[in-house]
Amino acid sequence: MQTTKTHVALLASPGMGHLIPVLELGKRFATQNDFQVTIFVVATDTSTVQSQLRNLPNPHLFNIVSLPPVDISALLDADASIVIKIIFMMRESLPALRSSISTLKPRPTALFADLFGTEAFQIADEFEMLKYVYIASNAWFLAATIYFPTIDKRLQEEHYGRKQPLMIPGCRSVRFQDTLDAFTDPKDQLFDEYLRIGLEMVTADGILVNTWEDLEPTTLASLRDGISKLLPIYPIGPMVRTMGSSHMSENSSLLEWLDMQPTESVIYVSFGSGGTLSANQMIEVAWGLELSQQRFIWVVRPPMDNDVSGSFFKVGDGSSDGTPDYLPDGFLTRNAKMGLVVPDWAPQAEILGHASVGGFLSHCGWNSTLESIVNGVPLIVWPLYAEQKMNATMLAEELGVAVRPNEMPTENLVKREEIEMMVRRILVDKEGQALRSRVKELKHSAKKASTKGGSSYNALSQVAKQCEMSLQGLMAKVMGA
Ligand code: UDP
Repeated sequence: MQTTKTHVALLASPGMGHLIPVLELGKRFATQNDFQVTIFVVATDTSTVQSQLRNLPNPHLFNIVSLPPVDISALLDADASIVIKIIFMMRESLPALRSSISTLKPRPTALFADLFGTEAFQIADEFEMLKYVYIASNAWFLAATIYFPTIDKRLQEEHYGRKQPLMIPGCRSVRFQDTLDAFTDPKDQLFDEYLRIGLEMVTADGILVNTWEDLEPTTLASLRDGISKLLPIYPIGPMVRTMGSSHMSENSSLLEWLDMQPTESVIYVSFGSGGTLSANQMIEVAWGLELSQQRFIWVVRPPMDNDVSGSFFKVGDGSSDGTPDYLPDGFLTRNAKMGLVVPDWAPQAEILGHASVGGFLSHCGWNSTLESIVNGVPLIVWPLYAEQKMNATMLAEELGVAVRPNEMPTENLVKREEIEMMVRRILVDKEGQALRSRVKELKHSAKKASTKGGSSYNALSQVAKQCEMSLQGLMAKVMGA
């Protein structure tokens, strides 16, 4: 008897940090559940995305549909925030998504949309598909996002107006200095858009979140008992890229260099796919690394003085000419033996998986955070935008796997002496050993959750079962008609 494969559709919003976890989820559906998978990519700068998609180690696992780029220039000011731009791009892509889904055979039984894709639920409804949100971040961020729109206006005002912590029932509250940009200004368009997203999320058939039970037990329990009582939450993480994710031939000299360094002796410095530092901050980081006398790999981008996410739509597109002339004079020569400077983009999954890497100075994007944890690498947190300040607090204060600067890097220049000290705390001091042993415990708990029979494996199986049952229901309907 011929059986029809269950077909699911995934929708990724623009940005490498959004695309990567969606690809991982697609991979998992294809390999763990033997599903047919279509991934819709809302491309911005197609060269960035296309070069990453070209380099996928296993492209045969899914069908990638790049939706045509949309022009939002007439709808927004050029200086609109990245998040608003993403929201508008997603909105303008809906007609193309609808027409593309209508041509897919067999019709997918479920749509998995990321945080910025919830407006596509109307399309899922039209085609009688199940609809899920896939939060490529943690449960604490999820709790804040779905809780905020439900609270009294007066309590919202306490947070943005009086800078009081956002109290989320049963969860750690969010300090104002760590809060999401969306929660800081009710007059900003982002505020209303975010409220809408939070409200749309709870209309889903379920929410998948890139965490695991043992990482955030209290938050997950509170979510289930409270705000989302009737809405299933599926912690399916960590969904991360592992070694072999990129074309290492292009980076073999980097790996050869790593091979020659002592175990856990190198600090890896990177601010994700979009992060940028000011010119002065770049100089301080350079001097901090040099003064620490520790080995390093640093992914550098041209500095931007008033934009912490300046390379979000540009990274990896080859626009950087590869000459980091913004570094202090003589930096590269003086440090030729101790460190490597990589312009623009590095094979992060391979670097973090290398035994010589002993620390990660990170902007705390959730993908980077998870990649550090699954490789047992402690962090120096350097949050810049989005939910990174929450992630940084969770890493340093709750999970105990990171050190943090005394002041927020987005508020004040972090001086070279402090950077030097943080690097030494992680790589040289006893404190680093304690952080490392704690992060290794998390690494094991992550592995346990993802292995067959583990909590995340089972959660994803439950979601897959629902998709299969929905397919069977649809087929029974067709046969009965
Ligand atoms: N990344 C990479 N090389 C780089 C910078 C980033 O491979 O030079 C990958 C990184 O491994 C992660 C993703 O890009 O998977 C960045 O996602 P994250 O959530 O950490 O941050 P975002 O870029 O979304 O701010």
